[in-house]
Amino acid sequence: MIRTPILQQTHFLIAQEDPLQSPDLLRLKEKECLSMLQRCKSSEEFKQAHAQFLKLGLDGDPRRSGSLVAACALSDWGNMDYACSIFRRIEEPGIFEYNTIIRGHVKDMDSQAALLLYRKMLERGIEPDNFTYPSLLKACSYLSAQEEGIQIHGHVFKFGFESDLFVQNSLINMYGKCGEVKHSIRVFKKMDGRSEASWSSLIASHSRLGLWSECLRLFGDMSSEGCWRANESTLVSVLSSCTHLGALDLGRCTHVSLLRNISRLNVILETSLIDMYVKCGSLEKGFSIFHKMHNKNQLSYSVMISGLAIHGRGKEALSVFSDMLEEGLEPDAVIYVSLLSACSHAGLVSEGRECFTRMRLEHHIEPTIQHYGCMIDLLGRAGLLNEAYELIKSMPMEPNDVVWRCLLSACRVHQNLELAEIAGEKLFQLDPHNASDYVLLSNIYAKAHQWEDMARMRKDLAQKALAQTPGFSTVEVKRKVHKFVSQDKSHPDCDAVYEMIHQMQWQLRFEGYIPDTSQVLLDVNEEEKQQRLSVHSQKLAIAFALIHKSQGSTIRIVKNLRMCSDCHTYTKLISKIFERKIIVRDRNRFHHFQDGNCSCRDYW
Ligand code: ZN
Ligand code: ZN
Repeated sequence: MIRTPILQQTHFLIAQEDPLQSPDLLRLKEKECLSMLQRCKSSEEFKQAHAQFLKLGLDGDPRRSGSLVAACALSDWGNMDYACSIFRRIEEPGIFEYNTIIRGHVKDMDSQAALLLYRKMLERGIEPDNFTYPSLLKACSYLSAQEEGIQIHGHVFKFGFESDLFVQNSLINMYGKCGEVKHSIRVFKKMDGRSEASWSSLIASHSRLGLWSECLRLFGDMSSEGCWRANESTLVSVLSSCTHLGALDLGRCTHVSLLRNISRLNVILETSLIDMYVKCGSLEKGFSIFHKMHNKNQLSYSVMISGLAIHGRGKEALSVFSDMLEEGLEPDAVIYVSLLSACSHAGLVSEGRECFTRMRLEHHIEPTIQHYGCMIDLLGRAGLLNEAYELIKSMPMEPNDVVWRCLLSACRVHQNLELAEIAGEKLFQLDPHNASDYVLLSNIYAKAHQWEDMARMRKDLAQKALAQTPGFSTVEVKRKVHKFVSQDKSHPDCDAVYEMIHQMQWQLRFEGYIPDTSQVLLDVNEEEKQQRLSVHSQKLAIAFALIHKSQGSTIRIVKNLRMCSDCHTYTKLISKIFERKIIVRDRNRFHHFQDGNCSCRDYW
C-alpha cells in the first residue's frame, strides 16, 4: 500500500469540511483519517494527524478516543503525556481506556502513576476486568511493593478473577519479584490449569532467591506434567541452577533440549551455556561454544574471561581479552576483576601489574576495593609481601577484611610472621567472628614454633565459641545432585560411604599419606583429629562418587568453602591410586586433580 504523505492528507481532510460532501464520502474520509492515525511512526506525526482528527470533529465517540489513547500510549514511539491529555478529554472513560492508560504507565516504568490511576478508577465506580490486573501486578513487582501487591491480590478475589490464568501467572511473578516465594507457591498450587508461563514464573521466583535445587526439581515436575517446551527464560534459570550446583549432566541435558526446541540460540542463552559448562568444570566445552559464537557481546567475553580465571588459565584469559578489544568492545570494571584474578591464580605478576595500570590510564576505570583485593592477592601469592602491604597502605579507601585476609593467607604460604600479626589484628577488629582467621594465624605461629602464641589463638577461639561455617560438598551422580556435610551421617548411603572412606584410608597409607591435622581447631587428641579430618565433606563426596560412578569417568565436586590443605593432598593421591580425574570447585577456583597432581600447582 502506498502511504499518502501527511501534508497531502491534511489538504484532503480540510476539504472535507465542505457541507456538500456526501455522508458516504465523509465516512470514507473518517476511516482514512483513523487509519492514518494508526499508521503513525512518531509522536510528532501522531500529534499532527490528531489535530486534523479534532478539526473534523471526530472525537465525539469515546470508543474512537479509546483507540487513539491505545495507539499513543502503547506504541514503541508512545508518548504518555500526550496519551494522558487525550484520556483526560474523554468524558466518561470506560474500563478499556483505563486499562490502556494503566498499561501505558507500566510500560513507561511509572508504576506509581499506574497504581494511582487504578485507585481513581475504583473511586469513579468503574469495575476492573481481567486485563486490569496483570499490568497492576507488574507495577507492584517493579516497585517490589509487596504490601500493594497483597492489597491488589485482595481485589482480585473481590472482583472474582482468582481463577483467571493470566492473573494467576501475574500473581506468581509479582510475589516472586517481591521475594515472597511462599505466596508464589500458594497461588501456583491453587491453579486448575497451568500454562508454560505459570511454570516459568514459579521457576524464576526460585532462581531469584538462589533456590537452585528447587528450580531443578520444579523443572523436572514441569517436564513430567507434559510441559516440555520450556521458554528461554526458564531455560536460563535452569542453566544457572546447574551452574551453581555444578550439575554438569543436567546442564548437558538442558543444552540438548535447547538445541531440540530452539532453532537459533540467542546470545543470552549461549552465554548461559558457556557459564554453565565452565563453572561445572568443563572448560573445554565452554570454550568451544564461545569460539563458535557469532555475536559475542561484552557479557559473553566477561563470562569466558572469568571462567578461564577460575580454572587458572591466565594466559588464555589475557588473549581472550585482547580479542575483545580488537572487536571494539569496551571492558568494564567486572572484566578487570576477572583479568586481575586470572593473573593472580596463574602467578602472572608483571601482566597483572600492567592490567592494573591499563585499566586506569587506557580505559578510565577507577580501581574499586575488589581490584585492590586482586592485586594484593597477586603480589602476596608471588611472595611480594612488602609490596602488597605498601599497596594496602596506599589504598584510597579503607581496606576491608577480604584484603587483609589475602595478606594473611600469603603470610602463611611465605611464612612472614611480622605482617601476619598486623593483618591478624586488623581482621580481628573488622570481622571478629571468623574462626578461620584465628586458625590461619595459629598455624603461622605453629610453623614458627611460637607455641605460646599459638595456644593464645586457640584459647581466644574457644572463649569466643566461634563455630566454623559447616563445610559441604556436592557431587552429581546419575543426574542427581548429592550433598555431603562434614561428619554428617544423614545421607541414605552413608554406611557404604564410610566403609569406602575406611578402604581409601588404607590405600593412602601405602602411598605415604600423613594426615595434616594442623587445621583441626578443637582441643582433642591426635587420633580424634585424624578422625575428624577423614570425614571432611569433600572426602565423603569422593567416596560416594567412587562407589557410584563408572570406572574412568571424571568426578566433579563443588564445595562451599576453600579447600583445606589436607583435602588437597588427599585428593591428589586419590586421583593417582584410583586413576581418576577429579575436578573440585571450591570457593575460590577450580582444582583439576590427575595422576597425583593438581592444576593449581599447590598455589591456591
Ligand atoms: Zn578438608
Ligand atoms: Zn589445587
